[in-house]
Amino acid sequence: MNPKVANFLASNDLETPYLVIDLNVIEHNFRQFRKLLPQAALYYAVKANPAPEILKILNAAGAGFDAASLPELESCLAAGASPEQILYSNTIKKQADIARAYEHGVRLFAFDCEEELRKLAEAAPGCQVFCRLAVESSGALWPLDGKFGCPAPMARDLLLAAPDMGLDPHGISFHVGSQQCSLTPWDRAIGRAAEIFRDLSANGVDLKLLNLGGGFPVAYRSQVPLLEDISTSIDASLVRHFGNSIPDIAIEPGRAIVAAAGLIRTEVILVSRRDVNVPERWVYLDIGRYGGLDETSGETIQYKLRPRVNGAECGPVVIAGPTCDSVDIMYQNAEYQLPMSLRAGDHIDILAAGAYTTTTASVGFNGFSPFQQYYI
Ligand SMILES: *Cc1c(COP(=O)(O)O)cnc(C)c1O
Repeated sequence: MNPKVANFLASNDLETPYLVIDLNVIEHNFRQFRKLLPQAALYYAVKANPAPEILKILNAAGAGFDAASLPELESCLAAGASPEQILYSNTIKKQADIARAYEHGVRLFAFDCEEELRKLAEAAPGCQVFCRLAVESSGALWPLDGKFGCPAPMARDLLLAAPDMGLDPHGISFHVGSQQCSLTPWDRAIGRAAEIFRDLSANGVDLKLLNLGGGFPVAYRSQVPLLEDISTSIDASLVRHFGNSIPDIAIEPGRAIVAAAGLIRTEVILVSRRDVNVPERWVYLDIGRYGGLDETSGETIQYKLRPRVNGAECGPVVIAGPTCDSVDIMYQNAEYQLPMSLRAGDHIDILAAGAYTTTTASVGFNGFSPFQQYYI
């Protein structure tokens, strides 16, 4: 924990649960991407955390934005972004929302099927379109391939058809899956995209943009590949597959920009031994699956927990939330251990919790309001 956050926690006696986001860390993460992937234009995936404070700081630093809905897009504009800096990169959009985005001046839109292309032709005539390619996402803890993207032959045919529909075929995008811990899917996807670029070029259509999406991983409980190594590998893939004609490159990181900047302070409501014959204790926190920790479903994202108690001796625990729903268990199989001295009223800090938490809390299931947020 850095001194700024430590000082904030120590000098404020706030009601838990709450999230503290250190905006300097977000700016630092953005600059790291700039430094390590200088050839890529960065569009922050707003859904990871759409707080105006974050959008403003990223806009001031020179980032673009990947908006997935009209409200996200409008919050980028409200934060000072110009429409040219915004990609409307959800492949599933209401036609009325496309029209509204177009009125706002947005010109870059994603699609992955013919009907979406027709909606774009109607509501955003002449706009630049990029096709989302379905790619393999094994190695990702949070895959995104089941719902989006089309196979390469279909991407090719749709991009070839775009000019006749009055649209500008601009490029290809993919997403290798969120929290992607393997480098292979990026290489395969870049190779697949390069084939489409070549094929279209031979047919008189020169695509300009390759959008590598998000997926850059964050160190939670386990180590992950370093951004340095991912960027070296991506560079090598681009050269291997595109040779001397590398297109404009875009990336859309969400998690890797905001996760590490956030800490959620929670309070232990109860430590219970539900069966005296079992060593495991149940630790119930004042935040759970409904309180913003949606990514713990399937014990997928395993946050690093820091108990604020003395006592080195630890023992096995199940960690659950406060609601009256038995789905509201966060970790039962992930072999978490917490101090034996842990009691009701103690604090536990959840680290690297800045991504995909603030907007996924329920509005008040069981009467629990979404947690407070502090941007410092
Ligand atoms: C969610 C999403 C992202 C961000 O993914 P991360 O894994 O958080 O970096 C980027 N692009 C698209 C299209 C997305 O849906």
